[in-house]
Amino acid sequence: MKLLEERIRKDGVIKPGNVLKVDSFLNHQMDVELFDAMGAEFKRLFAENPINKILTIEASGIGIACVVAQHFHVPVVFAKKSQSINLDGESYITKVESFTHKRTYDVIVSKKYLNPEDHILIIDDFLANGCAVNGLIDLIRSAGATVEGVGIAIEKGFQEGGRLIREKGIHVESLAIVESMNDETGEIVFRS
Ligand code: 5GP
Repeated sequence: MKLLEERIRKDGVIKPGNVLKVDSFLNHQMDVELFDAMGAEFKRLFAENPINKILTIEASGIGIACVVAQHFHVPVVFAKKSQSINLDGESYITKVESFTHKRTYDVIVSKKYLNPEDHILIIDDFLANGCAVNGLIDLIRSAGATVEGVGIAIEKGFQEGGRLIREKGIHVESLAIVESMNDETGEIVFRS
């Protein structure tokens, strides 16, 4: 998506350790009009899929998922991160290793909000090693629901997450795929 690529080039900041900071329009301050254009694009890309729910993970996926959901006219569920879970049997639980914080979280969704008849689109801001998305897939499968696809704002194509998830036969669409980025020169190359 050209609009997103241009915005990353203009306002993205490449940090050491393969981290792309997009705080000025996506992760801290949010450009909701850009999110709206992203929502329209995801709607076009997943037009054939019978999606009745969007699943994301807190915190940075929530804003995007909410705007995307307006294009699909479906509710958003966000998986909650926690370090101490009460195993009360009321929630689906999985573990996710955080790329940015280098920690492992328990991630939960109430059983009330994931059902076997659900057809779910996963939305997240970044795809790096795929831990967050794999955790969400795990939760959906625990509920016996169907993964219709994965919609990502920015995929770091030089990390393995995208390849691993596509190899499972899952429909992944990323609006911008970073092929390489250099924190010393500031150079960023997108997959065409
Ligand atoms: P993964 O689980 O695929 O390794 O990483 C995806 C998650 O880590 C995303 O939910 C995102 O919040 C965070 N993340 C991974 N890489 C980056 C990055 O380069 N920049 C930012 N801002 N977040 C990232």
